[in-house]
Formats: sequence, structure tokens, C-alpha cells
Amino acid sequence: MAAAENDDYYVAQTHDLRRSYRLRSEEIHALRGVDISVNRSEFVTLMGRSGSGKTTLLNILAGLDRPTSGTVTVLGHNIGAMSDEQLARMRRENIGIIFQSSALMPLLTAIENVELPLRILGWPRADRERRAHESLEVVAMGHRARHRPYELSGGEQQRIGIARAIAPKPALIIADEPTGELDSVSAQRIFGLFRSLVDDERVTILAATHDRAIIRRADRVLELRDGNLAEHE
Ligand code: ADP
Ligand code: MG
Repeated sequence: MAAAENDDYYVAQTHDLRRSYRLRSEEIHALRGVDISVNRSEFVTLMGRSGSGKTTLLNILAGLDRPTSGTVTVLGHNIGAMSDEQLARMRRENIGIIFQSSALMPLLTAIENVELPLRILGWPRADRERRAHESLEVVAMGHRARHRPYELSGGEQQRIGIARAIAPKPALIIADEPTGELDSVSAQRIFGLFRSLVDDERVTILAATHDRAIIRRADRVLELRDGNLAEHE
């Protein structure tokens, strides 16, 4: 599914977004009416204590979960009106997802991991190899292309995970605490990398983090408190 090509829509937007979970007799309100708008080529960080709703919001924007009510528009498409199949396709083609742990395939080399989504998208072999190498260069891991995940440090594995996420050239990257398991130097490096992806490749990044030391790299900080968007001080 092609992303709309004009520049005047928000890459991601929600209106009165609510998500509740029913746990036995209890109703848990993870999101209580959230309105956000993320512009093209913007780097936004999402802060908030554990349990504040960050993962819930990111999963909905990534098309991995659906809202209880409210509207969600991603890359010009109303997610609520899309079938699971359409959502999966949009995700594969247009959204790069990065989790706290890179979840690389352990038996594949770094470059094979990066090529995997391109293989699934049916890219021809030569294009796939070229783009996988290019993506590894972006994260400064070209020299580790033939290594397997267990031969790499946590920070290096996460950079491979980022290369895998950017390989299909997604318009939007959603990262859920991508540096949560890394030391502060590796974390700074990943956020520096995000900054240059936004500046050089015009992607849009929405990244959840607890880490106050790295949010200064972002254009804007959103803060969730108990399922509500709060002013970030
Ligand atoms: P964060 O990522 O900021 O730590 P989450 O979005 O994971 O927060 O969780 C927000 C709230 O929703 C928490 O109270 C959490 O316990 C609850 N929650 C998240 N997922 C589920 C689920 N699948 N079932 C029930 N409650 C959930
Ligand atoms: Mg979370």
C-alpha cells in the first residue's frame, strides 16, 4: 500500500484514542483519550513511567493492536478501517519496528537478518543485497555483515535490528525502549543514529524511552501519565 505522497498530512495522528483491557472483573484504562500528531521527518520521543501506556500507544500506531475507541491515522490511512491483512501489509512496507531486544534470527548472519524483510517483500536478490549492505553501513556495521548475533555485543545487535528496520525504507519508524538494555554510550549512539536518519533520510521516528540523557536529540518530547498525554516540563 503506497503512502500518500503529499507533505501536508501527519505521518501519525490520533483523536481521542482509548484502549482498555478487561482483566477478569477489572477494566484497565491504558489510554484515556490521547491526541497526538507527528509530522513528517520529525523525531519524537515518548516518555512516561512504566505502565503509563507507551507500549499500548506504539503498538496501536504500528498496527499491532487496535483501539477500543477513537481514530488513528497512519501515513494517510485510517487504521480502524483496515483489515488485518491490509494492516500487515502496511506494516511490512511502510513501518519499521524496533523493540527493546533486537530479536535477530540466531542462525542467520547480520546481513541475512537485514535481508529477511526484503525477501518477504519479494525484492530481487541483487537489490536486496545492495540495500542490506547499505543499511548496515548506515548503522556502521558493514564490517560485521557475516557475523552471527551471538558474536556481537548488545549494542551491535541492536544496530543490526535498526538496519533491518530501515532496510525496506519505511516512512515511519516506531521504537519501543530501543536502548532499554544498553549501556549509556551505546544508547547515545543509537539516538545519534536516529537523529541522522531523520535529518538525512527524512524518515519519521517515534521512540519511547525512560532515558532523560538522550531525549535532547529529539525534536519534541511527549509524556504519558497514566494513559493521558501530559505537558512535558
Ligand atoms: P508502558 O509501556 O508505558 O510501560 P503499557 O502500555 O505496557 O505501559 O501498559 C499500560 C497499562 O495497560 C498498564 O497498566 C498495563 O498493566 C496495562 N496492560 C498492558 N497490556 C495489557 C494486557 N494485554 N492486558 C491487560 N492489561 C494490560
Ligand atoms: Mg512498555
